[in-house]
Amino acid sequence: MGQTKNSELKRMQPDKQIAFVTDLNKCIGCQTCTVACKKMWTSGDGQDFEYWMNVETHPGKGYPKDWQKKGGGFKDGKLQIGLLPTLEDYGIPFQFDYTGRLFEGKPGPVTPSPEAKWGPNWDEDTGAGMYPNTYYFYLPRMCNHCTDPACLTACPSVAIYKRKEDGIVVVNQDLCSGQLECVKACPYGAIFFNPTTKVAEKCIGCFPMLEKGKAPICVGSCVGRARFVGYLDDMNSAVGKLIHKWKVALPLHSEFGTQPNEYFIPPVSPYKESKEGEITSERRIPDSLLKEMFGPRAIEVLDIIEMEREKRRKGQRSELMDLLIAHTNREMISI
Ligand code: SF4
Ligand code: SF4
Repeated sequence: MGQTKNSELKRMQPDKQIAFVTDLNKCIGCQTCTVACKKMWTSGDGQDFEYWMNVETHPGKGYPKDWQKKGGGFKDGKLQIGLLPTLEDYGIPFQFDYTGRLFEGKPGPVTPSPEAKWGPNWDEDTGAGMYPNTYYFYLPRMCNHCTDPACLTACPSVAIYKRKEDGIVVVNQDLCSGQLECVKACPYGAIFFNPTTKVAEKCIGCFPMLEKGKAPICVGSCVGRARFVGYLDDMNSAVGKLIHKWKVALPLHSEFGTQPNEYFIPPVSPYKESKEGEITSERRIPDSLLKEMFGPRAIEVLDIIEMEREKRRKGQRSELMDLLIAHTNREMISI
């Protein structure tokens, strides 16, 4: 019964599909988007561990821990039920030991309380590589408002649907029976189970703001001006041009099969230094890592960006650079 209704829901394609693009060359990892989202949507009971938007460091374990290995999504068109992240995987909220350091004379910097073993962004700014060729990059993540959402297909209570007007994936909490199948099925770890209210919760794409013609808070608050929002097929929007015309915005782990609508401009890293201090032709972030995350075209995209940057250095015009610089905020938001 649930499966049949889910198939009907899936056939009801939205009139328009919201899409996000983040330029990973501009994200400075300030977590302003994370905090803005947290303050706006998840400061209620049972939501301490929930970050609908979070900026993780890669290479790294991410949030929830090891989400890239949790499973879920679709394989050969069939729904995959993955692992259920534990509260420890999200990170049990902890306090910093301010009392010890500030009032009891304990030496050293302020650290998490001793029982804390993991938390969101525990490995922030850690990265990999050996000096002088160390590397890392920031990856802002939230629900992808997928075209084929595994969470929707998995829901036995038919509580998840895509909004007709914008394709945003939402949970009808009156229908949710708290069976956690959506949490297991989402391969991105982007839907949560609130242990207090006993229902599923997730990013709502700030639809109440969209309905007023305003950008979602993660886009509007972005200090690095790294995030763009618009409708997928709007070729007048920066989002449409970056995805379809310039083809430099790529989905994350498209092999998970859910057709995510959050896209990323992969990070161009500096070239490695040899032992002799010569600059080599190998970029610091390994091609293999970027291909694993953003697919086989990742390196071609880096080359396109470098070519267009070079044009600008020579004083020539580049539509792509203008799009990525986004001279006014209005150019980043087409809703
Ligand atoms: S990212 Fe996960 S929670 Fe969001 S729509 Fe896709 S499958 Fe559902
Ligand atoms: S606010 Fe913008 S620059 Fe800061 S972490 Fe978020 S996406 Fe990156």
